[in-house]
Amino acid sequence: MSNEQIVSEVESLNKEYRYLNEVSIQESSAKGKLSGVCVSVKDCIVVKDMQSRAGSRVLTGYSPVFDATVIQKVREQGGTIIGKTSQDEFGFGSFNTNVGLGLNIPLNPFDKTRCCGGSSGGAAGLTQKAGFHHIALSESTGGSIVCPAAFCGVYGLCPTYGLVSRYGLMDYANSLDKIGPMAKKVEDVALMLEVIAGYDEKDSTSVKHEKEEYSSFVGKDISGMKIGVIKESLGEGVDPQIASTIQEKIAVLESKGATVEEVSLPLNNSYSLAAYYLIAMCETSTNLSKYCGMRYGKHESLEGSFNEYFSGVRSEHFSAEAKRRIIIGTFARMSGFRDAYYIKALKVRTKLIEEYKKTFESYDVLISPTMPVIAPTFSEIGQMSPLDHYRMDILTVGPNLAGLPHMNIPAGFSKDMPVGLMVIGNHFDEGKLLQIGKVLE
Ligand code: GLN
Repeated sequence: MSNEQIVSEVESLNKEYRYLNEVSIQESSAKGKLSGVCVSVKDCIVVKDMQSRAGSRVLTGYSPVFDATVIQKVREQGGTIIGKTSQDEFGFGSFNTNVGLGLNIPLNPFDKTRCCGGSSGGAAGLTQKAGFHHIALSESTGGSIVCPAAFCGVYGLCPTYGLVSRYGLMDYANSLDKIGPMAKKVEDVALMLEVIAGYDEKDSTSVKHEKEEYSSFVGKDISGMKIGVIKESLGEGVDPQIASTIQEKIAVLESKGATVEEVSLPLNNSYSLAAYYLIAMCETSTNLSKYCGMRYGKHESLEGSFNEYFSGVRSEHFSAEAKRRIIIGTFARMSGFRDAYYIKALKVRTKLIEEYKKTFESYDVLISPTMPVIAPTFSEIGQMSPLDHYRMDILTVGPNLAGLPHMNIPAGFSKDMPVGLMVIGNHFDEGKLLQIGKVLE
């Protein structure tokens, strides 16, 4: 396909489904693993000379002067960048409906009255619909890769925290953010991970981990693998049709020689949501302070005191969900409340990590549904409270808090909508996730 054909396909898809905030082609002159592959980039990952807004109106007009490390790596391997995909503002959401004023809310590829999931909804929808060879770069803080991948029926892998550089990623919550790939095929997920993984001195949380050939895991047999099925994830609150679809896939894994047992993660089941939202909001309330109408994006005419100026810009250009998170996050780390909320959440986080680590002494991977429901309709979403939104992430926040790799695998359909199975691995066990993914493809 020529560049013109790709642009015209993306533009017509965009008219119908609104997957991108910015359609713009940047070719690479290099030859490598991604030659001939189109790469879309979640709006929060900076691309030089391409408007990058993280789904927020406050960043209107921000055209980065540098590339994120992952973008540099994509270019070195010959990938063609095709634009910036729609997302919840700074990653704040599970349905991609919390977008900055005037930005795109993507429509589900299987039913336009339903959402794509979030926060990387545009990436997932485009991955499902693109008729050309395409891999998406997306990002997860608490589930933003696997949730939309589940709702749109594609693969999405969130790697171990620190495996992929965050340099050039606009922070949501630094201790939680990870960049990872989405694709229609397991091979492409492995390929992109191979390209973007690796130590980066520009990211102080980047990990020195030996380089791995992720593609070599695709197609490797799983006999003898020990799989734990998370008991709480198939019980109350989970759509029974989703639970039965997951059970069918578990039977497939057993038939391929894996041993399957039920495991219980009571601490994660009870406390991961509360710990996640406190930590994520505390971190983001400090991260968003740099968007004040001085450095990036929106500027207004300087009137009044600095406080009045900053408040004016922020009041006008942040959406309601961003403001909610700034207020809650600031409250939870104020002196007088910090010990009761932020510090306690950090302690709980350690307990949750210990629970996973103990479980991985006996199991290679853990399995659950990715989401407890199929993609909701926009009218259902309109009736949910903010807490109802947060509760949707019950199954995905645990592995994110623990920095564990996890992947969505399309598992079937319920009411004609995709159902996702989530496989969670121990730190740096991305290979095992790819093995399971291929067996179920
Ligand atoms: N839904 C979660 C939140 O709103 C996770 C989003 C994400 O991973 N960026 O925080």
